[in-house]
Amino acid sequence: MNLSKKVTLFSLTLAAIMIAVLIVVSLLSFRQFSIMSAQSQVRTAAEIVRISLTEEMVNGIISKRDGLLHRLGEVEGLKSVHVVRGENVVRQFGKGSNDESTADDVETNVLKSGQPHFTILNEMSDPVFRGTIPFVATRKGNPVCMQCHDVAEGAVLGAVTVTMSIGQIKKDAVLVSALMVLSVAFFMGLMLFFFQRLVKPMITTANDVQDAVSHAIRGDFRANIQQRTNDEIGQVAQDVNKLMQFLHDGLSTIREDVTQLLKHKPAEEHGNLLNSTIGMVQGLIDASHFKQAIEEDQTKSEIYQRLSAAVRDRFGLRHFSIYEVQPNNNQVVTIAVDGELGEECRWCNPQILLRSETCRARRTGHLIDAIESPGICFSFQPPEDGKEYRHVCFPIMQSGMVGGVLQLMFEADEIEHIKEIIPYMSVYLREAAPVIEAKRLMDTLRESNLRDAMTGLHNRRFLEEYSETLVASTQRRKSQMSILMLDLDYFKMVNDTYGHDAGDTVLKALAKVLEQSARTSDIVIRYGGEEFMIIMQDTADDNADKVAEKIRAAVESLKIQLTGTVLQKTISIGIAEFPKDSETFWQTVKYADLALYRAKESGRNRVVRFTPDLWTDEKSY
Ligand code: GH3
Ligand code: MG
Ligand code: MG
Repeated sequence: MNLSKKVTLFSLTLAAIMIAVLIVVSLLSFRQFSIMSAQSQVRTAAEIVRISLTEEMVNGIISKRDGLLHRLGEVEGLKSVHVVRGENVVRQFGKGSNDESTADDVETNVLKSGQPHFTILNEMSDPVFRGTIPFVATRKGNPVCMQCHDVAEGAVLGAVTVTMSIGQIKKDAVLVSALMVLSVAFFMGLMLFFFQRLVKPMITTANDVQDAVSHAIRGDFRANIQQRTNDEIGQVAQDVNKLMQFLHDGLSTIREDVTQLLKHKPAEEHGNLLNSTIGMVQGLIDASHFKQAIEEDQTKSEIYQRLSAAVRDRFGLRHFSIYEVQPNNNQVVTIAVDGELGEECRWCNPQILLRSETCRARRTGHLIDAIESPGICFSFQPPEDGKEYRHVCFPIMQSGMVGGVLQLMFEADEIEHIKEIIPYMSVYLREAAPVIEAKRLMDTLRESNLRDAMTGLHNRRFLEEYSETLVASTQRRKSQMSILMLDLDYFKMVNDTYGHDAGDTVLKALAKVLEQSARTSDIVIRYGGEEFMIIMQDTADDNADKVAEKIRAAVESLKIQLTGTVLQKTISIGIAEFPKDSETFWQTVKYADLALYRAKESGRNRVVRFTPDLWTDEKSY
């Protein structure tokens, strides 16, 4: 029920209650007034009858009293006058006329009690007031009753019953009541009219405010509420307008900023503009949190893991690939597929790995949207399971170049969802791109610090940095690793005979042989000038001896081409096992070095495995 109806209903109810109360109160008052007035009139009539009868008695014409009473009955308003003789008078003067005996019990009782009695007859139709008043003997007045009556003072001499019509009083009462009701109704109507006029601007303003608020909830703050009065209500209208304008301006600014950041306009036609703006701001906040998190990540692969988790959990996608473009050779490598790092290229033709230009996103640096243009990229290779798959590929721009590509693959029924997330996904990638680039640069720098420039092998710094990790992983796997120390035999002679450059050529050729002989899990390190180390992980008992022997033989048979000559060199190798020979890594290295020393000592071009006696000899030495 609206305010206007409430006010009308309240006023009408109030008016009805007031009128009802007024009718009841006025009718009761009039009745009471009529009774009192009639009582007074009856008493007066009774007194007139008493005085007249006394006069007639004194004058000796009491026998003519019937005429008197008859004429009294003709007085307007009086209906009848009936005189009754009391017992004392009957006893002294006889019964009188027949008409003077008691007509009913009321008269009998009044004669007995000496108390007047009043009653209303026919109250509903033609009301008549009846009063029966006793004549009591008294010494007051002149003549005194006891002069003629042989009675004691206070004895009841008789009574008179007077009836009079009070119909007119009743009619007057009803008329007055009706007039009062009409005037009250008139004033209530007047009050309602002014009340409505007063309340109307309030109600209209309230309706306008309600309307403005419901528009605002839908994101439309363009309310303009008319100021109808110059009071508090007018002020409310003005303030609401100001508030709405403020919100409208604020939201417009936020929306413009967000649109610029997202490069995407809020979907106004889809309904609630405020909600879509809030959603977009939330998307930007999420992206900013994402950036904060990846900035604190330690490695590039942690960032890719977090990006994968965001694609899967935040954007709800199951199938996607992350590719990276190698800056040195422009080749594409697969980083993650469906959130798993190190997976093989799956949703694209693997040719993109070798010929990166076949990846359209990599080549163009544009978003490749197969929703708008199905079949746009020839390298897209969806599963052949009869379902319809689409893809969207985002280039990850780093310093104006495509540094990577995120490919989303999805079924046709996910298209709407993908369309919605494309702007947000772009923001995530925009935030991630510089962080990934920085990490890549750092990785490159770090890698170059940990490698020997001439041979490309890991250097000693690498060993110092990773020895703890290697030890921990070996211990965790309850495995063992073999440490091979290698030193070229009579290398100094090469330098001395053919010059330093020839020595370098020999070292490079040797590095290649070592790398080729080692497994991918083995780590080849240039330990010093012409000293090398190979760390072989998860080696079985004599496995290391066999590999070492293979290396020794490979070096021995290696023909190194120098200007004007071909050189052949030999190498000596010492082996120790961790943790079999020692519980500490660096002690094991020392043992391998001791074994190498023994190999040199015992004739060079050989492999020697560490035995505890070598340590004892060393100590004694
Ligand atoms: P052996 O090990 O069999 O006892 O004899 P060796 O002649 O190899 O003796 P040693 O290991 O002491 O000699 C190391 C030489 O390696 C000395 C140094 O001139 C040379 N050398 C170290 N680093 C380099 C390098 O980077 N380039 C070249 N050309 N020579 C290097
Ligand atoms: Mg040496
Ligand atoms: Mg040497």
